[in-house]
Amino acid sequence: MTKPKIVIGNWKMNKDFEEAEDLITQIEEQLADFQLQTEVVLCPPAVYAELVTDHADIDENHFYAGLQNVSEFENGAYTGEISAEMMASMNVDFCIVGHSERRKYFGETDEVVLKKMHRLLTNDIVPVMCCGETLEERKAGKHFEVVQKQIESTVCTLTADELERVMIAYEPIWAIGTGETATPAQAQEMLAFIRSLIEKKFGTELAVFTYILYGGSCNAKNALELFSQPDVDGGLIGGASLKPDEFVKIIEAAETVIKDN
Ligand code: PEP
Repeated sequence: MTKPKIVIGNWKMNKDFEEAEDLITQIEEQLADFQLQTEVVLCPPAVYAELVTDHADIDENHFYAGLQNVSEFENGAYTGEISAEMMASMNVDFCIVGHSERRKYFGETDEVVLKKMHRLLTNDIVPVMCCGETLEERKAGKHFEVVQKQIESTVCTLTADELERVMIAYEPIWAIGTGETATPAQAQEMLAFIRSLIEKKFGTELAVFTYILYGGSCNAKNALELFSQPDVDGGLIGGASLKPDEFVKIIEAAETVIKDN
């Protein structure tokens, strides 16, 4: 049996409060009609965390609460930062780490990403660790090397117990917000490669169990084909998660794949 898919919406720095409320309400209303097997996670800007945690109820509303970033520090004099402990106290269940926008604009290195993962794991929040190559790196044929380094210096340093509570999202940087999606074959090839790295370090059972998602211009049109690839366990969705109809269609695509298998 195919394992349930995961669809995560990354709202990035979008929406004012009223628009965010409206988006949640619309997603909630549309999902109410489904008997979902797919797990949905909504990651709004942190300032709206309560909007999502108030509504997140996997049995009733079919989604979990997530956020987009966490401090690498435990607590204290770090103005503007939000700790994993604070997030856990608000019932946040997932958090994206190492998104390419954080790596690019905020200088987040693999070392920092790993610290953040540890903070989250200590507080029982699932890190969704992003990795992926630039267009230049792909053109130079270095994409496997780049992703291997990102995976080996973060995920592969964890214990098996920790890895069980981690998800990975492969997001080729050239596909993020560009409208240019990796082909299903490119996504499958890289996700299978990531799974093989995990298998080498942790064994087959954990490699099969680990959730590895694709992200990068995934939308209602291409989701079905992407999610049908054997190693694609779901999607991390940016732009399309801001449009309720489109986001729900992506979730429907995930459901179709599960039901057809
Ligand atoms: C993302 O930012 O994680 C992402 C996948 O964005 P988009 O879907 O807009 O390419």
